[in-house]
Amino acid sequence: MIVRTRFAPSPTGYLHIGGARTALFAWLFARHHNGEFVLRVEDTDIERSTEASVKAITDGLSWLGLDVDKGPIFQSDRVDRYRDLLQQLLQNGNAYHCYCSREQLDQERQQQKAQGLKPRYSGRCRDLAGTHHQEAKEPVIRFRNPSQGVVVFEDQVRGRIAISNQELDDLVIARANGMPTYNFAVVADDLDMEISHVIRGDDHINNTPRQINILEALGARPPIYAHVPMIVNSDGQRLSKRHEAVSVLEYKEQGFLPEALRNYLIRLGWSAGDQEIFSLKEMIEKFDILNVNGAAAAFDIDKLRWFNQHYIKNADVSRLSLELAHRLKGDGVDINSGPALINVVEVLQERCETLVELTNKSKYFFEEFEEYDEIAAKKHLRSSAEKILISLRDEFILVDAWEVFAIKEVVYRVAENNAVKLGKIAQPLRVAVSGNSATPPIDETVALVGKDRTISRIGRALKYIEDRQRGAA
Ligand code: GLU
Repeated sequence: MIVRTRFAPSPTGYLHIGGARTALFAWLFARHHNGEFVLRVEDTDIERSTEASVKAITDGLSWLGLDVDKGPIFQSDRVDRYRDLLQQLLQNGNAYHCYCSREQLDQERQQQKAQGLKPRYSGRCRDLAGTHHQEAKEPVIRFRNPSQGVVVFEDQVRGRIAISNQELDDLVIARANGMPTYNFAVVADDLDMEISHVIRGDDHINNTPRQINILEALGARPPIYAHVPMIVNSDGQRLSKRHEAVSVLEYKEQGFLPEALRNYLIRLGWSAGDQEIFSLKEMIEKFDILNVNGAAAAFDIDKLRWFNQHYIKNADVSRLSLELAHRLKGDGVDINSGPALINVVEVLQERCETLVELTNKSKYFFEEFEEYDEIAAKKHLRSSAEKILISLRDEFILVDAWEVFAIKEVVYRVAENNAVKLGKIAQPLRVAVSGNSATPPIDETVALVGKDRTISRIGRALKYIEDRQRGAA
């Protein structure tokens, strides 16, 4: 048997991280077993489905590196096939037309509630075969669910699940307009696409016994099911668009690397010993759906940032340079007005949790920073730093080869001549050239800022100190 999994999103929004994690599990399972991964777009809800959403989903998957072997297959292209299968069920008596009006169904439900019963379809139209009904012009089609017995399946995440057929009523499988409902289209697709393992969100777990019954009525053997839990926030609530960025592409925007998000998502409720970092190859080798934790997984942005920092630190310099170029240009920064991007990445890649941080921390190499960080300036640009900054400027002017070792020499010399510790030199200089008190090593920073900029920024800092003194006087 070939292992074939599928990801079956409804294109009514973006690809959120819960969906991405489910897709990742389904993809890894297929790759682990040398199987196939199918992308099926469940777009039978024509009004809510959009092309923009299909694009957001496919872009999100490909950004995460989840390549698709078949698809996207659109349910809307398969309506004729669903009609054929519906006919088949009608003909063999496993489905029937239901003429009940909405009012009748509502009334039925009210009565059941009043009697303290669980609302379910009463089966009024179950045995009307052959009779002609006027009550509703266009009937819906209902599945004739077995009335006896138990549906049992071994969920790969949740364990054995058994539901009595008496709990299940006769489900509507086609609407009056002939369109199949979700549960029927899924069954028809899983059958036709020969899906061996259905790995999906556990919000569908209640549909599974019904889907198994329909599959069996079509003469098929049900696939193996694995229902993976949702991702919740630290309060155990559903992730919200407002508080947690939930779209995968938003994480891209915020400067996360796809391998970091992938690693984070797989570790969220799945483990192999206490290993945290997994290359793609290792993930594929080690992934086992049986090790997925059935409890809801709590999203933790700090952990994601930790993974991202790890991957940025270890990323190829030229790849990060391309990313940086793209982001700086996007922010209107002229990348030709500063050092080579590769050199900037080399000094910063160990110090950033996101590409946005990398971008922001790079800007002063290319353009003037607007203002000093308030705390840094207060602490380091004081009158006591004036003399030091003047000495630095005087010495820097004399440096011909603007290189790290020459800058370092100047810094040491100025420290010695003024009989102060290195920190007393480095911090004012740092704030002067970058606006901030945290940068890469001072000699490397100054080297990258460049001679002219360094000298003019020391001048700016001296003026700032002077202005402050005047203000205080
Ligand atoms: N289209 C469904 C959803 O987006 C998934 C259905 C399934 O995986 O069976 O929730």
